Amino acid sequence: MKEEPVKISDSEWEVMRVIWHEDCSDAKGIFDVLGVAKDWKMATIKTLLGRLVKKGALSTEQDGKKFLYRPLVNERQVIHDATSELLSHICAKKIGHTVAEILAQVELTADDIQLIKEQLTQKEPVASIQCDCVPGQCECHKKNGGM
Ligand SMILES: [Zn+2]
Repeated sequence: MKEEPVKISDSEWEVMRVIWHEDCSDAKGIFDVLGVAKDWKMATIKTLLGRLVKKGALSTEQDGKKFLYRPLVNERQVIHDATSELLSHICAKKIGHTVAEILAQVELTADDIQLIKEQLTQKEPVASIQCDCVPGQCECHKKNGGM
């Protein structure tokens, strides 16, 4: 599995999800899953597959007349990287609020809640968080207060 983050677009992500759960697929297999659901033509899927190979998210090998695709990145890693990417756009001081907002938005089972509670119990609080935004990108650097 690849170490460095692979950035994938929303459409590429749809394709990756099929490949992760089908393990190994050709364009036709992906088209069968997404063609009608997403209103995509075969050409669209082939373009997305080509981009994913170029990005190092997929490997491809020829098998007779068709090309088979296999994931080089796993789903968990891509979700982790996308989450890190999202958090990198937020002032470090606002991340706690953002996580609380996400929790408020989502539906959770008792098991999910238990898992999150365990995470929180293990979390070591830090005394304060340093903002490393460029001055002007958040409230922290304003003369009167901020967050
Ligand atoms: Zn900041």
